[in-house]
Amino acid sequence: GTFDIGMIGLAVMGRSLALNMADKGFRVAGYNRSREVTEAMVKEYPHDNFTPFYDLREFVEALARPRKVMLMIKAGGAVDAVIGQLTELLEEGDIILDGGNSFFEDTRRRYEALKEKGIRYFGVGISGGEEGARRGPSIMPGGEKEAYEQIRPVLEKIAAYAEGEPCCTYIGPDGAGHYVKMVHNGIEYADMQLIAEAYILLKSVAGYTNAELGDIFEEWNQGELKSYLIGITADIFREKDDFEAGELLDYIVDSAAQKGTGRWASIESMKQGVDISMITAACNARILSNHTELRKKAAGLLSGPEPVKAENRELFKNQVRDALYAAKIAAYAQGFDLMRDASKKYGWNLDLGKIASIFRAGCIIQAVFLNDITEAYRKNPELDNLMLDEFFRNRLEECQGGLRHAAAEGIRSGLPLPAMTEALSYFDAFRGGYTGANLIQAQRDCFGAHTFERTDREGTFHHDWGKRN
Ligand code: NDP
Repeated sequence: GTFDIGMIGLAVMGRSLALNMADKGFRVAGYNRSREVTEAMVKEYPHDNFTPFYDLREFVEALARPRKVMLMIKAGGAVDAVIGQLTELLEEGDIILDGGNSFFEDTRRRYEALKEKGIRYFGVGISGGEEGARRGPSIMPGGEKEAYEQIRPVLEKIAAYAEGEPCCTYIGPDGAGHYVKMVHNGIEYADMQLIAEAYILLKSVAGYTNAELGDIFEEWNQGELKSYLIGITADIFREKDDFEAGELLDYIVDSAAQKGTGRWASIESMKQGVDISMITAACNARILSNHTELRKKAAGLLSGPEPVKAENRELFKNQVRDALYAAKIAAYAQGFDLMRDASKKYGWNLDLGKIASIFRAGCIIQAVFLNDITEAYRKNPELDNLMLDEFFRNRLEECQGGLRHAAAEGIRSGLPLPAMTEALSYFDAFRGGYTGANLIQAQRDCFGAHTFERTDREGTFHHDWGKRN
């Protein structure tokens, strides 16, 4: 065969990626389980470099060797099913790329199973939704390093570009790419939650209107908070409603959905023993928001304080800005800590600075802030935690006052600020030198003889608690 690459799954994401590849001059073969989807695609989006196939064998035979097949299908059993069909048709040395949101443990399993058959398997994290897929996403490929050279030309050409560099880099073996995508999504949840908290603070405590909020976020988007999410948020505040007077935002139900990849990060963090409390808080905030009926009932039964009124709105606005920035540092510190731990646990040798740099464009968390993360790891690749980097240390020094103040006003006003308050707890537990865990160890030894260590002498101790009585 002669086709550069084959795409299986021509729903929104697969179609967009296939067309992106075709635009970049690659000859793409396409296949979809349901024929109608393929037919609809070629009718609506005809492209000289894209050829549809309706038979999987013919599709595979049309590909140049080593064959490269990308799957862009529903994650889970569908991926195993299609891999099963493909392994009958592929040969040793051929490459399968899974571009969907697969769970990284599934990718690890598939990678090992296919390795035995001589097929090279890549779990490729792709971020940026439909628009990213069509115009240039952030791409996180994980698999066999030598085989990466075979797929590098396609992936790097279709990726987003930041300052002339592709937002695509080899991440690491087996499940590393999907793992990093999972953490990206977790960070995305925390980022969005923090912005929502800044919103309710500015709205409730300082009484800013949507129009004013639009201006504030636009102003913030000129500086160090400049990011895709802050930018779209500024526009969202100004978007007029189609049906009623005022802005659409005010008519949207207060309940946030999720597809679950952010939640995976939270679950993994618990298994690994890494604190990503802000990501977990962001997951929980969405979960509780979904209980709309129960919350309506509770609102009638449980009271809280009236919102305090900011005496100096301008000052408060700047405190919220600092709060957002300081808490964002903590959220990224947690997410990158999770990747650092996984890198050691799975032997992935992740380049965290490079990973930050491929998030600079194409994906939801793209932000100028990522340059500072890359720089922190460039200065010290062994950095234990982002909050210990000199630049971030200084910024935390300057912004923590704002975070404390804004969070305190929110607490006094009865506003839920799960991510900001977790940021503070994390920061203070991390830097304070004392957390009260001595009491917990005492309790554990008291009820379960779990032993404890002492501050003043070596060894493990058990005390016969309550002997006094
Ligand atoms: P969907 O997740 O809705 O999946 C639909 C596609 O999967 C169709 O092509 C469908 O074929 C195929 N499929 C489902 N089950 C099977 C099966 N048993 N055998 C063969 N094919 C099957 O499509 P999306 O384009 O939204 O997403 C594709 C992947 O990309 C998913 O893993 C998603 O999580 C991920 N992703 C999505 C993003 C987004 O913004 N949507 C962003 C980043 C990643 P058929 O037409 O025959 O039903």
